[in-house]
Amino acid sequence: MFVKTLAFFINALFLLPSTEAATVTCKAAEDESWSYHGETNGPSAWGESFPTCYGEEQSPILIDTSNAVVDTSSKKLHMKNYDVPITKAMIINNGHSAQVTQIDGVARTIEVQGSVFTFQQLHFHWGSRYDSGSEHVIDDTRYALEAHFVHTNKDNTIAVVAVFFQATSHNNEGFQAIGDVLPQIPFKGDTFDLQSGLNLGELLPDNPSGFYHYEGSLTTPPCTENVQWFILKGVNSIGEQQLTELRSLHSTTKDKEYAGCKLVTTSDLFNL
Ligand SMILES: [Zn+2]
Repeated sequence: MFVKTLAFFINALFLLPSTEAATVTCKAAEDESWSYHGETNGPSAWGESFPTCYGEEQSPILIDTSNAVVDTSSKKLHMKNYDVPITKAMIINNGHSAQVTQIDGVARTIEVQGSVFTFQQLHFHWGSRYDSGSEHVIDDTRYALEAHFVHTNKDNTIAVVAVFFQATSHNNEGFQAIGDVLPQIPFKGDTFDLQSGLNLGELLPDNPSGFYHYEGSLTTPPCTENVQWFILKGVNSIGEQQLTELRSLHSTTKDKEYAGCKLVTTSDLFNL
């Protein structure tokens, strides 16, 4: 049984308020309870329908690494079974992201400070540009893609491991089990089974060197707080073609298809 260990690195940062309304690119988005595109239901308006989104501990955040504080009380993030390929999994276009849920019965876990969190699902955040995809910002850098590995513990506390990806000309082989089935889920509500094994360990940074930790929230409505964030240091890569496939997904159902309703799953709150 493989155990991956990451050294604990920090505990820090700045919280920024929502400053920018999302650009309206899709009229159909107005029909949704929330969206990334709508004028009336975009990120800056989420708090109108979901009050927690105006809370004090909201994610994502901008991490100023020069002000990161090293926490020596909790040194390790143990990842167990992350490199056991998921042999049975489903992917869904939920209108907000492409989300993979494992159904193979294997417990993939992280453990920190004695608390064990079990992996539930993986989804991605991307933008329309290579420098506006990730939700979290490291100093002045946003990456092309950010993966969220969502876990829960026995108390239903949520822990999310976040991984950044930068765009390259070469496809990421570890992502290909997902990339292969993206054409099968073009519209909101579409689902499909993965056709090959997905190794979560291959989606981690090439040379993980610790993580940034803070307590925040879900980055989408209902913006639930008390979420434990573990943002891995180091960066993985994603093929430009694979990013194009993600950007080809639609945020709306098939009957509402028209130009502009492509999924862009980041809130652009930081206006960098
Ligand atoms: Zn997310």
